[in-house]
Amino acid sequence: MHALERNKNIFKLLSEAVSEGILVVNEQRIIIATNHRTNEMFGYGEEELNGSHLNRLIPDSFHAVHDKYVENFNMNQGQKRRMAHGRTLYGKRMNGGQFPIEVGLNPFKLLGESYVMALIIDVTEKKEKEEEIRKLNAQLEQRILLRTKELEQTVAKLTKEIKLRENAESKIKTALQKERELNDLKAEFLSLVSHEFKTPLSGILTSATLVGKYKGGDQQDKREKHLKTIIGGVHHLTGILNDFLSLERLEKGKEVYRYTEFSLSKVVNLVVYNANMLLKDGQKINYPDNIDEVEINQDERIVSLVLTNLLHNAIKYSPEDTDIDIKVDLPPSKIIFHIIDQGIGIPEKSRKHIFEKYFRAENAVLLQGSGIGLNIVKVHVENIGGRIYYTDNGGKGSIFSVEFPLKPPKD
Ligand code: ADP
Repeated sequence: MHALERNKNIFKLLSEAVSEGILVVNEQRIIIATNHRTNEMFGYGEEELNGSHLNRLIPDSFHAVHDKYVENFNMNQGQKRRMAHGRTLYGKRMNGGQFPIEVGLNPFKLLGESYVMALIIDVTEKKEKEEEIRKLNAQLEQRILLRTKELEQTVAKLTKEIKLRENAESKIKTALQKERELNDLKAEFLSLVSHEFKTPLSGILTSATLVGKYKGGDQQDKREKHLKTIIGGVHHLTGILNDFLSLERLEKGKEVYRYTEFSLSKVVNLVVYNANMLLKDGQKINYPDNIDEVEINQDERIVSLVLTNLLHNAIKYSPEDTDIDIKVDLPPSKIIFHIIDQGIGIPEKSRKHIFEKYFRAENAVLLQGSGIGLNIVKVHVENIGGRIYYTDNGGKGSIFSVEFPLKPPKD
């Protein structure tokens, strides 16, 4: 009789009290004994499993793995341990169904023979719970992801809205600033008109009154003198008005530049012709000698406006009996004008300011002026990609140089 069989009753007595399944195999993995819980778990009747190979309780697909496992186990003989720790093991029921189990192995020797007692727990419920927890966790993660995404979208939306608002705000601010500047400009204009228009207007009025009084045929030269004063006064006032209108257009950003091909000598001639009317006694404008055949591509109106302004200043800020030279350099791709006078010049400390709006050097305050012209000229010249600069004429006057590019700026 087999050793264990002999102790069958003792085994039964002990094993039935245990809530885990108990299964004993010999070295050949033949089942020697099972308790009630094992039979119940695997769906067999009492004693039905005894004598069967252990593989009967292992799903076919796991047989090879199990063989490997047993080999390993034999090498580490005698150690009590949990089987396949960390991995899920499966048992096979009589009806072929599989279910997850946990198995603890307890090798022992009895009367010289080796056995292994396996303690088996059905972990179906535990696995289901674990699966449920896993699913819940996954759902939770999914929800967190979704919420995070929603949050990110909201933040992006808010950021966009803030940007839009900031843009709108800055636009309103700019508009307000522009309006304030225009208002300032209008106020400045009024004060300018009251200051600057008074003297020429009273000069015109006086001359006009006097002209009427020179009735004699021999008084033509007197009449001409007064008519010249009137023409000069009107030109001066027109100049201020034009400057002011030009400034307003520039500041409103309304200026549009039109490039055309035109004859340089035609424009310079016209500018000089008009300036000649303002010359003081003994003043002379020397016309450039190298522009007869020159055609340029520029905004004709701006070239004319710039030259007119510089020439008028040269006349205004120079005494009688002086020359004003217009010189032109024609390097490739640009044209440079130099308006050279022998006038009062500009004190060194004022030079960096003369292109600023309303700036007038201290040696000029007794002469009429508004401080607008050079500012307008500079803005125009820079708008079309050119530049303007001042050089001292060797202590004997001023040189204003202005460069025009000969192609429209690319934008
Ligand atoms: P305005 O001549 O009406 O005062 P501008 O803007 O044309 O205004 O000139 C600004 C200032 O630059 C003048 O007030 C004057 O001090 C100085 N300026 C301009 N051109 C000359 C020049 N050719 N010679 C001396 N000073 C000049």
